[in-house]
Formats: sequence, structure tokens, C-alpha cells
Amino acid sequence: MKYSELVSVYKRLDNTTKRLEKTHIISEFLKDIKDKDTKKIVLLIQGKIFPDWDDRKIGVASRLVLKAINKATGTASEKVEKEWKNTGDLGIAAENLIKKKKQATLFSAELTVTKVFDNVQKLATLEGAGSVDHKISLIAELLTSAKPEEGKYIVRTVLEDMRVGVGEGSMRDAIVWAYFGKEAGVKYVDGSTEIEDRAEYNKYVDAVQRAYDLTNDLGAVTEAAKDGLKKLERLELSIGNPIKVMLALRVKDVKEGFERVGVPAQLEYKYDGFRIQIHKNKDEIRLYTRRLEEVTSQFPDVVEFVKKHTKGDSFILDSECVGYDPKTGKYLAFQKISQRIKRKYDIEDMAKKFPVEVNVFDVISYNGKNMIAEPMSERRKIIERIVKKVEKKILPSKHIITSDEKDAEKFYRESLKAGNEGIMLKSLESPYKPGARVGFMVKLKPVMDTLDLVIVGAEWGEGKRSHWLSSFTLACVSDGKYLEIGKMGTGIKEKAEEGVSFEQLTEELKPLIISEKGKEVTIKPKIVVEVKFEEIQKSPTYSSGYALRFPRLEGLREDRHAKDASTLEMVEDYYEGQRGR
Ligand code: AMP
Repeated sequence: MKYSELVSVYKRLDNTTKRLEKTHIISEFLKDIKDKDTKKIVLLIQGKIFPDWDDRKIGVASRLVLKAINKATGTASEKVEKEWKNTGDLGIAAENLIKKKKQATLFSAELTVTKVFDNVQKLATLEGAGSVDHKISLIAELLTSAKPEEGKYIVRTVLEDMRVGVGEGSMRDAIVWAYFGKEAGVKYVDGSTEIEDRAEYNKYVDAVQRAYDLTNDLGAVTEAAKDGLKKLERLELSIGNPIKVMLALRVKDVKEGFERVGVPAQLEYKYDGFRIQIHKNKDEIRLYTRRLEEVTSQFPDVVEFVKKHTKGDSFILDSECVGYDPKTGKYLAFQKISQRIKRKYDIEDMAKKFPVEVNVFDVISYNGKNMIAEPMSERRKIIERIVKKVEKKILPSKHIITSDEKDAEKFYRESLKAGNEGIMLKSLESPYKPGARVGFMVKLKPVMDTLDLVIVGAEWGEGKRSHWLSSFTLACVSDGKYLEIGKMGTGIKEKAEEGVSFEQLTEELKPLIISEKGKEVTIKPKIVVEVKFEEIQKSPTYSSGYALRFPRLEGLREDRHAKDASTLEMVEDYYEGQRGR
């Protein structure tokens, strides 16, 4: 397929904010795909090169793209930079500059979808000496052949900043409309849809959703759907193909937890480790993280526990691996053992130094049977049947079943005292819902306090937000120095009526800008903000040595001078005090 065909779809998608219209545009496009490259096209429509579970990142900085534009168009770097600043969007800058150049030269070869996809994908694999130049060449090669508009979308794809607004929900519906539109009686007329028979329609939606839940691969679902319902229904869970994990909603107390999941509920310790999806097929055992990256070789100890202490020929289990101190046996915070996940060498040594205990809390498939539609109560029975309880190795997660708030409170306190993060409350009747935060399980953990931090830097926004500062660097105070502790982009409002807005913050901060480099600005420490967060972690990224997890603006602290902001000592205290460790 020619890349220009895809670009015309991007353009149409860009021209509307309406979800139904976007879905319609994609469904029409899907009908026409005859290509063997369906998988690539399905990713590109969503502005992706890799599926979400693929760990690879394109990882190209704006600066590098700037150099590629410079190389492809022969425009001086300063001019490219100026165009970028003026438009606030490197994609549009590329478009404009290619336009100028193209007036003087003839178009070269037509770009194909495969060429664009393959060049961009290659960017993720290059490392080491000479890789920067190679990356610039790969991007420049595409931009040299690109028509102006193609250039815009190539740049956005490379920067992983596509903004076409196509989510998984739209893709799923588009697949239904494209391939089962007639059977399901879908009619799209002027921005709205008419559905003749809701029940029939939902049957197809459910079939597509089911196939996606089980394969985690929209490309594969599209290919199967193209061949009809039977093919789609034949897609199944497959051992060795990780599926998205079920997520938890947060509740503020036991009462709300019970309301959400119903009573009696299953309560479990919420271990502070990392999630591992365990796949076993006979002698072959594979492990995947929450983000579905494979980590089998990093955890030979876990593989061994699964081999020795579980029953069953084949299964997929969901579990939390929690580290413990080999001397005292006490649970350790996630950060202490997180290094094991990325470790490539001295693996055995690490396993001794930072041993983990595997707490199994769900079963997704067992001896060839797909378990996700089974209620939690049934799944728990299977877990207890197949996982032996071997403390400090592998065991079913600690649980109680209760309807009583006092019992639940007691269990919660006991869990915190044992060094856990809190508890989970789970509905006994609910199925396993891959990738969804639907409230079949909820989490309860203590809320952290807030800190008052100083804004010492920011970044100019993109597109519509190019005149606003958007991401704010926060700092705490130590001996009159300001030490960075993270970046905050949430909690700030679009409109002034709703609270502290981007515009307001920009107005306050603009006169304090000390220097600018690209989109980054350094700001004189003056403005103090109240920031809420979930957790403090150790981090080499920031000068304080700490980073906030999920920082969120609560408000301005106009009553505070920068020098009176929270101190590094307070941050350290919080860190040490987290979860009673
Ligand atoms: P959060 O990461 O705060 O959204 O909390 C949900 C996470 O808690 C899950 O993704 C698991 O990694 C973890 N977790 C720890 N213990 C359990 C448990 N017993 N059941 C389910 N999830 C658990």
C-alpha cells in the first residue's frame, strides 16, 4: 500500500474530533485493505510501530529529527529550529520545509507503508557507535521521498506523538463495522449510527473484544475478522502469548470496597512487588511482567519454584513477586528488588541477594481450559489445587472471605504491619477481565500526604498547547539549594473556571524564565505548589535522589516563599516512613 493512502486517512481523522466519525473512517479504510501488511497498517493507524506489550521504543529525541529534517531538506538547523518554535510542532515544521524544498525539486520515489514502517522500526534496534548518524539517515531517507503532508506524519510517528485519537475502543468498533456491518445492521449516516438490532450487534462486538482480550493483537484480530466470524471465534488464549492483566480501581476505605465488589468479598494482601504472568506448557515455563515483557531469564528461581511446587500440565497464572531480606525474612519495598527485572548478568547472584516470594492470585488458563469467564471463587479453588503453599518460594496469595467491616479492617492493619502496601478486595462472582479497570477487584492503601514544592523548570506544550507551559519540574529545598524531585503534568486545568489552569501557570511563570533551550525552560524558583502523590521512590534521574510517583497539582501555595517549601529531609522522612518500613 502507498503511504499516501494512509496519510489521507490520518488527515480525515485529524479533521474530526467525533469518535463515531473516526470509527467510520477507519472502518471504510479497513474494508479496502487487501494487503499482507494488515498488521503493520493496523499499528500505524493507531500511531504505533510496536504493540503495547512490546517493550521496544523508537526512542528518538526531537533534536535528532531536527537534524534529519535539516539533512533531507537542506534547510539550516537554525531555520528548522525557528520553524519549530513558530509552529510549536516539529511535524508541521517538517511539512512546511519540505513544501519549500519541493518547489525546487521533483518528487522522488513513492513511499510505501512498508518502507515507512520498516525504517521507523529499525530506529528502535540501533545502538552504539555510529547509531545516531544511522538513525538520522533512516529518517532523512523517508523525508527526502516524502510529500509535505507525508513528512508531517512521518515525524509524528517517529516521535511517537501521533495524536490521531484512535483508541482500542474505536479500533474494535471499526473492525465490527468493516467486516460485520451488514450482518449487524450498522448504518452510518452523517455523523451518527443506526443499529437495527442491538443484540445482534453486541454479539459481534463481544466476539471482536473476546478475540482481542485473548490474543492481545489487533492485527491478528483484524486478519481473522476479515475471514469471518468463525475464524474470529477460533482465536484462543495461547500459552506463551501474554495477555493484558486485569487492573484495579482504588477505593478510600473498606466500606467503599464492599460497595464496589459486593459481599461477601475476597480480601487479599496487596503485596508490594511486581506482577508476573506465569505461562507453563509441560516443561516450558515463561514469565512476563505487567507490561508483558518477557523476563524468564532474569528469574531462574521463580521458574524453579513453578517447576517444583505446582501441579498441572499447562496453565497461565497471575502473581505478585515480592522481595524479602534473606537475613531477616522481612518483605522489602519494590524498589529494592526492581533492579532484578532489567538485569542481564550475574543473575544467579542477584537471585541469592534479592530473593523473591511468588504470591499467586489468579489463574487465566488451566490444562487447556480458558478460565477467564469463571467466577473468582472457582478460580481460587483451582489456584489452591495447583499451587502448593511453600513460604518464601511460591504460594496462593493470603486471603480471607468476609462481609464484616471489622474483620476487613483487622486484615488491612495486619497486612500493612507485615510490610504490604494494603489490601485488595475482589468480587467472588466476577470473571477475569484482561486489560480493564472494571472494579472486579479494588485496591485499598493509605493515601500519602502532600508536599509543597517549587517549580524550577517547564516545557512548552505541543500543538494547541504550544503557547502554554505544560510539564513542570518540581524541586524541594536543601540548604538553600533547589533539588529536583520530578515532573508534573496532571491536575492542571484547561479552563480557568475549573481551577489553576495552564494559562494561569504560564502567566505566573513566564516572567521568571531564566533560559530556554528548545522547548525546555529553566525557571527562577519562586512559585510554590501543593502536590499530591502516591509514593516517593529513589531515583538517580533527579538531583534530590528521589522521584514522586504520580504527582498531581492540588493548588498554589501563594502563602509560601520558595525557601519555605518542603525540605529534602521531609522527603527522606516520608520515604523511610512509607508503609512502616
Ligand atoms: P496498583 O499498581 O497500585 O494499581 O495496584 C494493582 C497491583 O497490585 C496489581 O497490578 C498487582 O501487581 C499488585 N498486587 C499485589 N497483590 C495483589 C493481589 N493479591 N491481587 C491482585 N493484585 C495484587
